[in-house]
Amino acid sequence: MNRRQFLVQSAASACILPFAGWQTAFIPKRKEVIILGAGLSGLYAALLLQESGYTVTVLEGKDRIGGKVFTLNHLTGKPEGGGWTIGDHYARFRSLVERFKLNLLELPVVAGPPGTLFFVNGQRVALRDWSMAKPNQLSDGERQTPPPALLGKFIRSHNPLQHARDWFDNPHPDLDISIETFLRKQKASKEALRLMRVAPNTNDLHKTSLLWAMRDDERRKRHSGDRFYRIEGGNSRLISALATSLNHPVMLNKIVQKIQQSEGKVSITCTDGSVAKADYIISTLPFSVMRGLDIKPVPPVLQAEAIQHLPYTAITQVYLQVEQPFWADDDFPVAMWTDTAIERVLPITNEKGQISMLVVWMDGKNALAFDKLQPEKQSRQVIDTIGAIRPATRDALTVVHTQRWARNPFSLGAYSHFAPGQITRFARHIAQPIGALHLAGEHTAIESPGMEGALESAERVVRELMNAG
Ligand SMILES: Cc1cc2nc3c(=O)[nH]c(=O)nc-3n(C[C@H](O)[C@H](O)[C@H](O)COP(=O)(O)OP(=O)(O)OC[C@H]3O[C@@H](n4cnc5c(N)ncnc54)[C@H](O)[C@@H]3O)c2cc1C
Repeated sequence: MNRRQFLVQSAASACILPFAGWQTAFIPKRKEVIILGAGLSGLYAALLLQESGYTVTVLEGKDRIGGKVFTLNHLTGKPEGGGWTIGDHYARFRSLVERFKLNLLELPVVAGPPGTLFFVNGQRVALRDWSMAKPNQLSDGERQTPPPALLGKFIRSHNPLQHARDWFDNPHPDLDISIETFLRKQKASKEALRLMRVAPNTNDLHKTSLLWAMRDDERRKRHSGDRFYRIEGGNSRLISALATSLNHPVMLNKIVQKIQQSEGKVSITCTDGSVAKADYIISTLPFSVMRGLDIKPVPPVLQAEAIQHLPYTAITQVYLQVEQPFWADDDFPVAMWTDTAIERVLPITNEKGQISMLVVWMDGKNALAFDKLQPEKQSRQVIDTIGAIRPATRDALTVVHTQRWARNPFSLGAYSHFAPGQITRFARHIAQPIGALHLAGEHTAIESPGMEGALESAERVVRELMNAG
C-alpha cells in the first residue's frame, strides 16, 4: 500500500471532528492543515488534501468564498467581477468543471458592429482607417499597428522564451529590466510610449519587468489558437462546488493577523482573538495582504523582500446596464479602446451573444486615480466620457456596479507582476516553505496564468506537504 492509498483508507475510517484544532489543544493522529484563504487555490488544495487523508480547515477573512473568482450574481447576465476567461489549455480547471458536472460555454462572438472603436487624441477612428488616420501620430514604422497591439509588436521579435518555464528556469538578467527602458532602446516614439501606457495590464511600464511581459507574450503566442470560455451560470459555481465537497465548511470572517511557529506546530491568530494550531499552514493570501501580517520567525531575507515588494496591478471595473442598443444608432463597434482616463469599454454578452451590459476597465494609474473619486463623480466621469465619444449612449447607460480591486483589503490589487530586477533577485524564493508554513496562490505559479495558475500552485503545495510527511 502506498502512502496515498494509506492516507485515503485512514481518512475513510477516521472519525472527522468539526474544526479539529480550532481553539483546542487536540492533537489528532492525522495531520492537520489550516488553509488561509478560500479562493480557487485554497479550496482546491483543501480538496486534494482531504482526499489524501489530511484534516483540513479553511479560514477566509471575507464574508464570502471565491476571492478573485467572483461572479456578480446580482447583475443582468451574471458577469464576472474577477477571473473571467478560461482558455482551451486550462487543463486543471477544465477537469474540475467536468468532475463537478458544470458546463463551459464558449464566449460568443459579440452582436453588433464588429471590431473596436478607437478614440485617440480626441477623435474616433475605426480599425480599418487607423494607419492613415489623422489622430494616429505614431512614427512611420509604428503607424500600421493598432494601439493595443503596439507592446506585443515591440516585444515579440526580441522574445527568446520558448517554453512555459523558461522565464523561471533560465537566468535572463539582461531582460529583467523595465519595459520602458527596453522600448526606449528600441527607439519607440514618444506617442507610442504614451499609447502603450494605456491599459498596460500592469501598473506602469517603467515599474514592470520586461521579462515578465515576455512571459505573457510567450503564453499568448503558444496559445494563440485557443478558444475562450466561462462556466454556464458564472465561474463562482466552481468555487461553490469545491467548497461543498469539503468535510468542514469554510470558516468565514476569520481575518488572519499572525502566523507563528514553535515546537513543530504552527499557530494562527485572527483579528477576533481566536487562535488555531495545526501541523501545517498553507497561506494562499496575496503578498499584498501577507506583508501586513506578523509572521514569526521572519521569512529568509529574499523571501521577506518578495512578500514586502511584489507589486500588484490595480484594476477597477465599472459595470453599466444597457438601456437601449445605442450601437444601432451610431453603427460603431460596441468595444472601445480610448486614451482617456477610462481606458477601455468592453461588451458583456449573454449566452446568445446579445449584449447585456458594458464594463469600463481601467488598469494601473488610471484605476488608482479613479478609485479616489466620490461614487457620484465616478459615475459622472464614466457616463460623460462615453457620451462625449459617442452621443448615442446618452440616456442609454446606467452605472450599476463598481469593482475596485486595489481598494479591497483582502486583495489590495488584482494580480501580481514583477518589477525590474525582481525575477532575477527573488522569483526562486517566493514559494519556498518557511518551516511548516507553505505558500500557494496565483503569485507562486510558474507555468500557468490566472485561475489555472492558482490551481497549479495548489497541486504543487499539496505535493510539498505529502513529501514533508
Ligand atoms: C479583474 C480580474 C480579472 C481576471 N481575469 C482573469 C481571467 O480572465 N482569466 C484567468 O485565468 N484569471 C483571471 N484573473 C485572475 C484570477 O482570478 C486569479 O489568479 C485567481 O482567482 C487567484 O486565486 P488565488 O486563490 O490564488 O487567490 P485569491 O482568489 O486572491 O484568494 C485569496 C483568499 O484569501 C482571502 N484573504 C485575504 N486576506 C485574508 C486574511 N488576512 N485572512 C483570511 N483570508 C484572507 C481572500 O479574501 C481570498 O478569498 C482575474 C483577476 C481579476 C482580479
